[in-house]
Amino acid sequence: MQSQQFEDILRSVPLMSPEQVNVLHTTLPLAANTVTSNVQAESRFLERLKFYFDQHPVCVRCRSAHVNRWGSKDGHQRYCCKDCGKTFNAMSGTPMAHLRVREKLDQYVECMDGETTLRPAARRCGISLDTSFHLRHRLMTLLENDSYGQLSGIAEEDETFFHESHKGDRKLQTPRKRDARSQRKSRHAKTEKKASVPLIPVMVACDRNHHVIDAVLKKVSTEELQSQLEGRILAGSTLCFDAHLAHEHLAEKLSLTAKTLVSSSGERVKEGIYHIQTVNAYHSELKRWINGFFKGVATKYLQRYLGWKRYLKTHMFSIEGFLDQISIHWAYQHITWSYDHFWCLKRKTGGVPCQKHS
Ligand SMILES: [Zn+2]
Repeated sequence: MQSQQFEDILRSVPLMSPEQVNVLHTTLPLAANTVTSNVQAESRFLERLKFYFDQHPVCVRCRSAHVNRWGSKDGHQRYCCKDCGKTFNAMSGTPMAHLRVREKLDQYVECMDGETTLRPAARRCGISLDTSFHLRHRLMTLLENDSYGQLSGIAEEDETFFHESHKGDRKLQTPRKRDARSQRKSRHAKTEKKASVPLIPVMVACDRNHHVIDAVLKKVSTEELQSQLEGRILAGSTLCFDAHLAHEHLAEKLSLTAKTLVSSSGERVKEGIYHIQTVNAYHSELKRWINGFFKGVATKYLQRYLGWKRYLKTHMFSIEGFLDQISIHWAYQHITWSYDHFWCLKRKTGGVPCQKHS
């Protein structure tokens, strides 16, 4: 509101009738609450990002730590790199950059519980379906490449398959409309058609302590599995898998003890403890979630959904926890400190100093 309009309202207050003053009394607290809640909603998210960034601001272009404070814009502190001259703020270079509906972010995080589809999320937050889609994908991108430590002890690995999907692709040519007779004929060909859709392999490895590694593969091969699992399973662990040509030399290449189960001949458990039932249960849940709840997802977004499921599976879902995860992921991606130091910072925010870094 312009200052002149505001002054006009102030001047008109003494001229108001008692009824009008009463209306003003009831309206003002409502407006004040809305303003306060918007500020709080934004600050919960921004507080974390700003805290981590202010500890060690780094240029988003050249990763130089030689940066100066460079005024502020829209309430965000800006920085300027002394080496390359790039100006940036705490959100530059993250999927949260240029986000217009920041005040809706905390509310939208509530809808990332894995049980809310796009439309109910849009209704709950009062945003359009498009915005709901973009917010979900921005948040999923933050979780996509997160890892939660190495697998250890008894680890299990297996692959599952999803049909290739182009869901939501607007460039996809729509099939020509057919008459009723040819539609009847096409029903018979549906099974054949489904069988001809390429299958996308998804690798999942997990241990008995709820650590999960997953990846969308091009094909199931020893080289690809090795590249995904190398250095991510603690030395001395045991790897259980189904008998498959690609698995034959995998454990050897990863320097792990192998336990192969021949499930085609009904072998489910070896020596009482070695099995792949944990990873198979994970597969079933993943398929129910993606194929059942979401009615399929586009193959190009499959890795993001795997990351989201991994997060939901390995964490108790909460808004505060999710916002912490976003901040830590961001810090991990952008600051050159060790991962231990981030956890140290996080502990400091909770009032518990880390012995290693205090
Ligand atoms: Zn720079």
